Amino acid sequence: MIASKFGGTSTSSGEQLKKVADIIHADKNRQFIVVSAPGKRFDGDNKVTDLLYLCHAHLTYSVPFDQVFNMIEERFRDISKVLDPNFDIDLYLSTIRSKLNKGISLDYLVSRGEYLNALLLANYLGFEFVDAKEIIYFKMDGSLDYEKTRKLMNERLKNVKNAVIPGFYGVSALGDIKTFSRGGSDITGSLVASCMGASVYENWTDVSGFLMADPRIIKNPKKIRYITYRELRELSYMGASVLHDEAIYPVRNANIPINIRNTNHPDDPGTIIANEREKSEDDLPITGVAGRKDFTIIALQKFYMNSEVGYVRRILSILEMYDITFENIPSGIDTVSIVIDNAKLNGKLEKVLSEIERTCAPDSINVYKNIALVAVVGQNMAFSIGIAGRVFTALGNAGVNLRVIDQGSSEINIIVGISDDDLEKAIKAIYYEFNKTTDR
Ligand code: ASP
Repeated sequence: MIASKFGGTSTSSGEQLKKVADIIHADKNRQFIVVSAPGKRFDGDNKVTDLLYLCHAHLTYSVPFDQVFNMIEERFRDISKVLDPNFDIDLYLSTIRSKLNKGISLDYLVSRGEYLNALLLANYLGFEFVDAKEIIYFKMDGSLDYEKTRKLMNERLKNVKNAVIPGFYGVSALGDIKTFSRGGSDITGSLVASCMGASVYENWTDVSGFLMADPRIIKNPKKIRYITYRELRELSYMGASVLHDEAIYPVRNANIPINIRNTNHPDDPGTIIANEREKSEDDLPITGVAGRKDFTIIALQKFYMNSEVGYVRRILSILEMYDITFENIPSGIDTVSIVIDNAKLNGKLEKVLSEIERTCAPDSINVYKNIALVAVVGQNMAFSIGIAGRVFTALGNAGVNLRVIDQGSSEINIIVGISDDDLEKAIKAIYYEFNKTTDR
């Protein structure tokens, strides 16, 4: 059994939904289908979910919402016209409109994009529509109730041959509609795959898989065919993301691979994300490279730091006191540096520094702002000699000054800290070191 989730660009119009239907028909194992709300059809277009949020903002400030809601209605009428002109979409739209006039919760309203899209697709395919509110449960504290979800989903779907399920929401412990965070249909798909024991979780989008580097920096970067969950986590932390973060856990835990596919190019095999990586003949030593700007380094120096018990612990307890997480702590015998995301330091830097001075009495403290981190990631790097040398030589030849070097002991990543201004240069230098292409 395959669980397939189709994202907003795959379900943005009647024409796109017809492509989705062709994909579903092409493999009868595609039994459970999860859909997003209609996304953008072209640059500058609106996502239906954004319009729904906007509509709720109008309600909150008592501004007339008709114009926005008309746009939403238009989107669904257009889809309905293409898929099945006899489907009574107006019945569903008028139910929502009448609730708008009486007061409606934010989560209920913004979940309607997925709800209506799933109804339309289920009708077109002749599949059963199974509402997410019957199968996805949240606890009182707002977190997902995985066990209950698994039990109820199994009960509800065990005798269902084929179903279309709206993504993005479920039901709260109080019985109200509750959504995941934005992009949460990925989580719904992952839950359906893991709870129902799918052989693969297909995630259909508008790209043919995960790319080795940011296409805004590298022209036509190579696609990644296989990647492990661990590698994916390292790269997506650095901003290379195609999936909601929380979508990983359910399938990873159940050892189910994710296959990222492209609805507009269904013949492309896409990227397989799994716990283990398959070997492929065009494997490179690195799987990908990604980077992020806007970090700060706090660098401390103290003579004989290495012989002082608990020195780093004292520094870290100050960060804990101010609720600040950190990325890396490269250290030497008399030095320690802490790399922190600027957003986490917001407004707290001076207080942290004076507390460090008071508690740790370093000989010097230096603060380096505007630092970018670049992660070179690859399972193949482990136990293979010379990769780090190639990375550093490439960066040196490109004139990039390294402020921090860190290699995790798992050896699947090398992280370097450089100046924000050097980020693009560094990504290019590393990418082309391992891809000797002339097409730059
Ligand atoms: N429609 C929702 C959003 O735009 C959820 C999703 O598409 O995954 O965030």
